[in-house]
This record gives sequence, structure tokens and C-alpha cells, in this order.
Amino acid sequence: MLLEIQGLESHYGRVKALKGVDVAVKPGELVALVGANGAGKTTLLRALSGVQSISAGSIRFDGHDITRLPAHKRVQLGIAQVPEGRQVFGPMSVEDNLLMGTYRRRGAKPADDMERMYDTFPILKTKRKQAAGLLSGGQQQMLAMARALMSNPRLLLLDEPSMGLAPLLVGEIFNAVERLKAQGMTILLVEQNAFQALGIADRGYVMETGDITMADDAQVLLGDERVKAAYLGL
Ligand code: ATP
Repeated sequence: MLLEIQGLESHYGRVKALKGVDVAVKPGELVALVGANGAGKTTLLRALSGVQSISAGSIRFDGHDITRLPAHKRVQLGIAQVPEGRQVFGPMSVEDNLLMGTYRRRGAKPADDMERMYDTFPILKTKRKQAAGLLSGGQQQMLAMARALMSNPRLLLLDEPSMGLAPLLVGEIFNAVERLKAQGMTILLVEQNAFQALGIADRGYVMETGDITMADDAQVLLGDERVKAAYLGL
């Protein structure tokens, strides 16, 4: 396993947002974590990247116990998070946004990585001198993903990349995630859009009010009657 989360608990004051979560991700896997609004998905990602306090349980990454490791050290180990709502640096150019992603990176030359990003997200190349704030929502999402990838991560955490996007753009984002998987990236994808997330994932977890209630191959979850009823609107 590249990532192994066991019995993870987290609180907001007296509210228990994570109640003993077990999630694992193998190298090269695309794992989808789906669940309704407020299920605790964002809290789990924040705990993974080190910005959310943990009250019990453990997180192991590539054999290291990182449960108590500060966020910047996790980035150095190769965990990169793309937060919900994109958060690109609006006044800065696309290119400068990408360069910001090389802060605290491991190895390689930024120029090579920039070209690699432009291969994966060609639209960013055509807009590279434009202010990021002028890009469409879908393009900003791609930029946020590309910027995270500039840190040369081994695990990419994506928080609701399709949120707030028009259906056509949602498809583009999921295609981009599939391309990253094809390139060998290991991805934990958090989504309310269960149908599309499970459609491209290897495995999936269903989260409900702080608990993992189902874990299986993505195709099995897609065919499950309870998942269909609760999340796929079928
Ligand atoms: P969303 O899709 O809306 O982001 P989510 O599955 O990511 O939902 P979380 O944001 O992780 O869910 O929230 C999990 C629970 O923790 C919810 O009950 C939420 O109300 C609560 N919560 C989240 N953030 C805070 C906070 N800053 N203070 C108090 N409670 C919070």
C-alpha cells in the first residue's frame, strides 16, 4: 500500500467528523471516495494533508507513519492536495501559478515539468501568459491540478474537482483525471458526483456521517442497489 489510513478519528469541538475511517490506496490506483454533503470527505483529505487535527488512528504513507507529521513534510514526502474550490492565484499568470507549485518540490527541473503539464493540459499552454483569474472554472481546475503536480507528488488528493462546473466541463475534468491515472499517478478522488467518479476509478469507498459504509471495486459499487438508490439517482 502507498497510503494506509486506519481507525482515523477527527473532531470539530465535540462534533466527531471522522469516526474510525479505514482507507487504503495502492501505487498507481485511482480510488474514489464518494458520499453526500457533510459526510466528512473534506475532513479526511485535510487530515491526510496535515491541516486537520487527528484524535485517534493512524496514517501511513510509503511505510512512514505520518500521523503527526507537519503538512510541509508531507508535501516533501510526495502528498499533494488540490483543495475544493480551486484557489488559483488570480492575478498571476498561468505560468507563474505553475512555478508556485515547484515550491518545496523534490528533484527534476521546473521547465521540463512545465512542458509535461502542457502536454497533459494543452489548454493551459495556449493561456500560459494570461492571468489565472480570467480562465473558465474548468480551466482553473486544471491549473490547480497541474500546479499540485508540479511538486512532483506520488499521491494526488483531489477534493471535488467537478464542483460548480457545467456538465460538459465536468466531463473534461474527469478525462483529465483519467489521463493522469494512465500516466501512472496514484490518485484519491473525493466526489459528490459518485457516478462519474466511480466510472473512472479502480476502487471506491462510500462515506456516510464520518464512517466508511461500503468499500469495493468501483464497478461493483456502481452496480450496487444501495449505491444506486442513494448516490446515483437511479
Ligand atoms: P462537503 O462535500 O460539503 O465538503 P464533506 O463530506 O467534505 O462535505 P466535511 O466538510 O468533511 O464533509 O464535514 C464533515 C462534518 O463536519 C459535517 O457534519 C460538517 O458540518 C462538520 N464540519 C466541517 N467543518 C467544520 C468546522 N470548521 N467546524 C465545525 N464543524 C465542521
